[in-house]
Amino acid sequence: MTDASLQPASAPPPACRVERSSVHGNGVFATRDILPGERVIEYAGREISWDEAQARAAAQGGPHNHTFFFSLANGNVIDGGDAGNDARFINHSCEPNCEAIEEEDGTIFIYALHAILQDEELSYSYPLIYEGRHTPAIKRAFACRCGAEQCSGTMLAPKPRQRKPAAPRVKPAEPAMSADRVPGLAAPQNPPPAMPG
Ligand SMILES: [Zn+2]
Repeated sequence: MTDASLQPASAPPPACRVERSSVHGNGVFATRDILPGERVIEYAGREISWDEAQARAAAQGGPHNHTFFFSLANGNVIDGGDAGNDARFINHSCEPNCEAIEEEDGTIFIYALHAILQDEELSYSYPLIYEGRHTPAIKRAFACRCGAEQCSGTMLAPKPRQRKPAAPRVKPAEPAMSADRVPGLAAPQNPPPAMPG
């Protein structure tokens, strides 16, 4: 039990902190070494309906000005810009060292994919759902500058072809399967009517 004796009795200090990032604006950095699979931080924020999320995005001048939304399996959205925490500043990377997992109770936590060294920047891969046209301006707004060798150059999830229903976020609630669900960070806007083909 030697390890346990080193643990503080109260809550441990946060595993990460916010700082300016060379990737984009602010970023989140490890304050200590983090173990593979470790739960790093909750993606906190107010849970709001999809309609409310759209209204909030519109009030801020459009979805590209508001990328703190995280869609939940129940169709609602976590707004990290409202009662959120440092997790909202975690940047996207095409070669991330973290992943976001929705727990069975609808909370979202950021987990380490592998060992992370102190002062390393945390990142995860957003499948950023944007239902409008992927115009050049939108593509520029969501360009990826993560610097990874395999960088796709964009944070936007590819627009799905018509074979499968496109939007898991509007599906009704279903039994939670936290481990294999990849939550999408959604940039809402009023979607145009679906135009197959
Ligand atoms: Zn990238």
